Amino acid sequence: MQMKVVKFGGSSLANAEQFKKVAEIVKADPSRHYVVASAPGKRDRSDTKVTDMLYRCYEMVREHEDITDYFSQIAERYNSIIRELGLRFDISGELEYIRNAILHHSGRDFAASRGEYLNSLILAKYLGFDFIDAESVVFFRENGSFDEEKTNVAMSAELALHSYAVIPGFYGVMPNGTIKTFSRGGSDITGSIVARAAEATLYENWTDVSGFLMADPRIVSNPLPIRTVTYRELRELSYMGATVLHEDAIFPVRNAGIPINIRNTNEPDAPGTMIVSTANSYDPNTVITGIAGKKGLSVITIEKDLMNAEIGFGRRVLEVLEEHDISFEHLPSGVDTMSVVISTSSLDPIRERVLNAINRSVRPDSLSAEDGLALLAVVGRGMVKAKGTAARVCNAISSAGVNIRMIDQGSSELNIIVGVEEADLERAMQAVYSEFVG
Ligand code: ASP
Repeated sequence: MQMKVVKFGGSSLANAEQFKKVAEIVKADPSRHYVVASAPGKRDRSDTKVTDMLYRCYEMVREHEDITDYFSQIAERYNSIIRELGLRFDISGELEYIRNAILHHSGRDFAASRGEYLNSLILAKYLGFDFIDAESVVFFRENGSFDEEKTNVAMSAELALHSYAVIPGFYGVMPNGTIKTFSRGGSDITGSIVARAAEATLYENWTDVSGFLMADPRIVSNPLPIRTVTYRELRELSYMGATVLHEDAIFPVRNAGIPINIRNTNEPDAPGTMIVSTANSYDPNTVITGIAGKKGLSVITIEKDLMNAEIGFGRRVLEVLEEHDISFEHLPSGVDTMSVVISTSSLDPIRERVLNAINRSVRPDSLSAEDGLALLAVVGRGMVKAKGTAARVCNAISSAGVNIRMIDQGSSELNIIVGVEEADLERAMQAVYSEFVG
């Protein structure tokens, strides 16, 4: 039996017209039992998300500014949705309560969470579904981390009482009863949590794009959509900057083996992208799944004769980074050289201190830090079986006249990472795309 959990993002629920599309989607398939909703997003480019407006209200109160007018704009966003949907639903009491709570310093997260709360109340009413407040089923621990097991038990028990329900995304509750939110975009995580608790057969994540594209459309014109991507490939791609889904949304469903289908509310017939644990179907023509790029990186290069024989060398270098709270991105190394790729923004403010500390710790023959590096990740589960992929990537990049500064193939043969000058990233990406896709 099919059981689907569907999550709609802010742009899918930005106004009454979007609510109608959402209802059509939900009602088209009776196996869509549980709906997770975001707060109203932008209606057009110049619009402001309700979540951002709520954060602003919170700040205004802190600065002793009057929120009356600004809060009425938020109220009007919800009231216009209710009016245009023709609903008989009075939320003035809720709005008044929220306004007072914000005025009485109920907390930044509480303020932000009300965007999802109100939108979900309205959506539940419109769909004729039950409403389950996330506050009673999503739990955080004292230290602020998400309590997955406690949540799963409570969520499963609550869902069992409702065949059809709407649950607000983005927030849960702390042990002391105060509201806490996930990081921005966190409704994706709630959707994943609900899918796990419902033992869903599919988690549909409805947004405003028809899934992932093979490359950044600002760089490669009309890239093909990705039909199927594995969780591991997605981690590689999103780490490198391809964002459609909140990173942390992957874990609850991945562990439970539930696929995620990214769909477009404005193009409901498009199949979107399926995110799965293992893709059995291997198409020999699609060696690569996607290409992503990341700028703003620096490389620290350390050289020392006989480095390879010096036990603990790497550890000492990494210890210095740890002491300075810097995480490294890559570690391509040679026999007597070690390079550490890190983000320039983490190195910049403490550059001298870090280099001096490495000098003291490992006494290298030479040590340098260079900025302006970009990484290009060519990701694909098909690489394991295809011979010569690395050669094709390198040839394509060199033929485009781009110098390769570094190359690193993960031992899982899931990705090839190529380091190039920042200014060359676009050209390298276009070249690799044409080589593999045409
Ligand atoms: N409304 C929240 C945000 O804007 C959470 C979400 O939409 O997922 O970040």
